[in-house]
Amino acid sequence: MTDVVRFERVSKTYPAGVHAVEDVDLALAPGELVAVVGPSGSGKSSLLNLMGTLDRPTTGRVLVDGHDTAALTDREVSALRARRIGFVFQQFHLAVGVPILDAVADGLLYAGAAPRRRRAEAAEVLDRVGLAHRMRHLPHQLSGGESQRAAVARAVVGAPALLLADEPTGNLDSASGAAVLTLLRELHGSGTTVVVITHDREIAAGLPRRIEMRDGRMVTDTSTDSGAASRTGAGVDRPAGATVAR
Ligand code: ADP
Ligand code: MG
Repeated sequence: MTDVVRFERVSKTYPAGVHAVEDVDLALAPGELVAVVGPSGSGKSSLLNLMGTLDRPTTGRVLVDGHDTAALTDREVSALRARRIGFVFQQFHLAVGVPILDAVADGLLYAGAAPRRRRAEAAEVLDRVGLAHRMRHLPHQLSGGESQRAAVARAVVGAPALLLADEPTGNLDSASGAAVLTLLRELHGSGTTVVVITHDREIAAGLPRRIEMRDGRMVTDTSTDSGAASRTGAGVDRPAGATVAR
């Protein structure tokens, strides 16, 4: 099976000379659920942005669905990203004054579907994340946890193959954070490849694969470290009663 994302000796150096990512090799197979951990400034977000084609590597190759992104124009990369990748950030990024249903429906603009169809799909996804009763609300009328679930809905409305979440629970109380994490697990259970950056050791310990960054280098990858995957609980994460099956 083609890897959803593949890095070959990827490095990212920012203009100021910061080596944010250094010489990383990794492959994400379809259907994986991966935690990225590491101290602040270790390159986690840079790594995720490279996975999501929001940024291009300084050296090395990034392949998405087997496509070498270096061989694609910016426009082609944008199209690939729009069709295949969803993002969730620590800040919810919901447009001010736009009802939740419309904000989520806008996630389908690239798909070229008619407005009615977009809204129908958005409503379905909002129902899946438990926000059926909030569709007509404006972002400021939602709690933090609801906002993040709306952001997840927007990220997954086009059924992306890959969902990238950068500290999605960082601004939430623990109950809301747990709800968002359950949602990510359910999405994973329905076939989406999910990568989540987290500071929460407990969250990370519960996920089947962990990548640890330190000073721009990937110092741990439980999928390739011999013996590590079995020690660290691979396969223990399937939630009982997942409700997000498609
Ligand atoms: P993390 O997400 O683990 O906190 P980041 O990937 O955000 O780490 O940052 C890694 C390093 O790259 C840090 O030293 C950070 O200051 C630097 N950095 C991140 N983004 C930029 C940028 N756009 N321009 C310059 N330096 C950056
Ligand atoms: Mg970060």
